[in-house]
Amino acid sequence: MIATDVCIIGAGPAGAAAALQLQQLNIPCVVVDKAVFPRDKICGDGLSGKVLTALNRIDKSIGDRLCRFPAKEGSWGVTFSAPSRDSLDIAYQPDYNSHTKSGIPAGFVCKRIDFDNFLVEEMKRCAGIQLFQGQAVDKYSLQHDGYLLSSADGSFSVKAKLVIVANGAHSSFTKETANIHMEPQHYCAGIRAYYKGVTGLSPDGFIELHFLRSLLPGYFWIFPLPNGEANVGISILSSVVRKRKMNLKKMLQEVIANDLVMKKRFKNATVVSAIEGFGLPLGSKRRVLSGDRFMLTGDAAYLIDPFTGEGIGNALYSGRIAAQQSAACLKANNFSAAVMKAYDDEVYRILGPELRLSTRLQRLANNTWLFNFLMKTAMRNKQLRELMSCMFYEIDLRKKLAQPSFYVKMLLNR
Ligand SMILES: Cc1cc2nc3c(=O)[nH]c(=O)nc-3n(C[C@H](O)[C@H](O)[C@H](O)COP(=O)(O)OP(=O)(O)OC[C@H]3O[C@@H](n4cnc5c(N)ncnc54)[C@H](O)[C@@H]3O)c2cc1C
Repeated sequence: MIATDVCIIGAGPAGAAAALQLQQLNIPCVVVDKAVFPRDKICGDGLSGKVLTALNRIDKSIGDRLCRFPAKEGSWGVTFSAPSRDSLDIAYQPDYNSHTKSGIPAGFVCKRIDFDNFLVEEMKRCAGIQLFQGQAVDKYSLQHDGYLLSSADGSFSVKAKLVIVANGAHSSFTKETANIHMEPQHYCAGIRAYYKGVTGLSPDGFIELHFLRSLLPGYFWIFPLPNGEANVGISILSSVVRKRKMNLKKMLQEVIANDLVMKKRFKNATVVSAIEGFGLPLGSKRRVLSGDRFMLTGDAAYLIDPFTGEGIGNALYSGRIAAQQSAACLKANNFSAAVMKAYDDEVYRILGPELRLSTRLQRLANNTWLFNFLMKTAMRNKQLRELMSCMFYEIDLRKKLAQPSFYVKMLLNR
């Protein structure tokens, strides 16, 4: 049996961020993942500016290495396309200008098989991180001095004072111990496939979210990848999928074959992967994310942005906050739920304002007329566009929303 102060279940973005931040705090940890890396994860592969910001905050040299990492396409922002087909470009950096842009873009599109392996390689550089791959944690029992975690047959086990749960959307710990269950109105279904030869991609690598009338409040996406490939997919609220009995795979093929704009752009495109699906646990509702000796992070904590579907940045942020909370608990030698609550407060202090804003935008996207109106307004309103930029980049949206001058400028700018 391995004994450690902190055990992290899952080595995806949330788990990796927690481990890398613990390393910065000189706290050794054990990370266990059931997969052997490099492994795929069904995703849009879009890394918004928030991802680089989070990695830089853990350790600037990790951010620098990501910037030099070859298996990615630079992305300067997001294009939102309304049901009316009006489109709005939101840059990841508020001062972006297509003609004068220079340096490294704030966002990237990078296949998860490559990005997650990049994070695993970062963990392997750290002497304080003990990584076990190909080991599933299936059993967990709370004892007086820590959690006993083990594989189903008991051949692998870890005893830890504290557990950081980072095992994704299907986390059994989230259901069984944290008592958080999938609610179709706070959960999305998503499918993705890789295509080659899609035309009309942005020269600045903008990712595209198309809010097509037939998919509202969900969307169809195209994210440009290196080597002329693109990640293409659909994401829709699970409650809507159930109500309308939607077959997402069929819908993706129908959009590509029949939508007036898409059928031209996909005329010579070929699909180069299977069309596969996975769930997106949304942060459209506040939940209790911690308890005696544990903290939930990333998808296991339901932190995906309900409007954009972005979860990697929030996974990194929550992992980092969990590491900081671990340091406080170890120092005080107190791992009680009451102390751990500071983790929930910090996660929602930092991510809460934009999760709430995105929840409003997601509900608004249900109403075609209102959504078209908002897009038209934002196309004319610099303040509103900058606010949306901040959601993808600066994270500290709270500061902007707290300034009365921001609202005055927004109204005057209509
Ligand atoms: C279709 C789709 C499209 C998306 N598009 C985007 C996008 O473009 N941009 C974006 O930012 N986000 C996107 N997301 C969300 C994003 O994929 C997640 O938010 C992100 O992967 C969360 O990271 P995580 O570390 O919490 O979990 P994961 O990345 O799921 O990692 C969890 C890890 O835990 C391991 N694990 C699971 N169970 C166990 C166990 N019992 N024992 C040990 N290990 C275990 C897994 O092997 C895995 O490595 C998308 C999601 C979907 C489904």
